Amino acid sequence: MTNRRNFLKNASILATTGLLAGKPGLGNAHPNGTTTITMANKTLGLQIYSLQRELYDNLPKRMRELKDMGYTKLELAGYKEGKIGGVDMMEFKKMADDAGLNIISSHLEPYIDGHTDPFLLDYQKEMMPQVNEFWKRAADDHAKLECKYMIQATMPTCKSHERAYLLCDFFNEAGRIVKAAGLKYGYHNHHMEFERLLRPEDAGKNKNPWTIPGDQIYDLFIQGTDPGLVLYEMDVYWTIRGGSDPVDYMRKHPDRIKLLHIKDTTILGQSGLLNFENIFNQMYENKIADFFVEMEPLKDGRTQYQGIKECSDYLQKATFVK
Ligand code: MG
Repeated sequence: MTNRRNFLKNASILATTGLLAGKPGLGNAHPNGTTTITMANKTLGLQIYSLQRELYDNLPKRMRELKDMGYTKLELAGYKEGKIGGVDMMEFKKMADDAGLNIISSHLEPYIDGHTDPFLLDYQKEMMPQVNEFWKRAADDHAKLECKYMIQATMPTCKSHERAYLLCDFFNEAGRIVKAAGLKYGYHNHHMEFERLLRPEDAGKNKNPWTIPGDQIYDLFIQGTDPGLVLYEMDVYWTIRGGSDPVDYMRKHPDRIKLLHIKDTTILGQSGLLNFENIFNQMYENKIADFFVEMEPLKDGRTQYQGIKECSDYLQKATFVK
C-alpha cells in the first residue's frame, strides 16, 4: 500500500524538477511556445472542460483549431437536458464530425429536478430511483452520439464505509443502465478518493484522514463495484495530489483502470511533479487505448487555447507518446 511517506519515491513522480528536460530525445519539459513542433500525427484526446467557455465563442471554428493542434478525440463535459454547455447535443456532434473530431466519452454530474445543489453530492438511498432516471435519460442521449463512455465526474460525499458501500450500489446501478444502452460507465477521481476512512474497530485512535489506519475510498470503490459494470478513468494528477501513485494503481488494477486523464498542475510537463514517461509506458503496457488531456483554468494571462496547444506540443514532441 502506498503511503505519503514513500510516494515521492514512486515511479510516476519526478523527485527532481526537470529530469525529463535533460533526457536525450525527449520533449522539452518547459515548452515556451516558440519552438517549431514536428507534428507526429498522434491521436490525442481532450477533455473539453479544459477550454472553459472559450470553446463556445465560435464552436465550429474552435473545433477545427483543436483538430489542427492534433486533438482527434473529445470527452464532453457540461451535459444537461440533452445539451452540452447549452448546445443541442446532436448539433454539437455534427460540428465535431465536420471538424474531424470523434466524441468518445462524456463527463456527467447527476442531477435531480428541483434539487438545490448544482452537483448532487449528498446521495441518500431513497434518491436511487431519481438518480437512475437521470442515467437512463442521459444514456439514451449519449447512445445517439455513438459515444463509448459515460463517466461519473465527481465523488458524492463519502465519510464512512457504510457510505462508500451505498455509493458503490449507486455506481453499479448506473453501470447497469448505461450498459443496457450499449455504452460503458466509469468513475473519474479527484484527490478526495485517496483519503482514508477510519475502520470501525480503529475508532478513537487517530482522526487524521491521511494517516489513519483505514481504507482508501478509491480502493473501497474498486472492491465494491462490479468489474462488468464500472470501469475507472484515473486522473493521474489528482491521484498524485491525493498522495498515491497512478502507475502503482495501473499495475494493480489493469482490468479496472481503462481510461486516463493526462494532467499536470498547469501545462503538461512544466511542474516536474509527474513522470509522464513512466505513466505512458504503463498505459501502453496495460493496453489502455484512450486518454484525455485536461487542464484547469490558467491564471497567468494565457488563454485556455494557448495552454492546451502547449499541452499538445509537449505530447507531440515526447518520444514516449506513440
Ligand atoms: Mg480529471
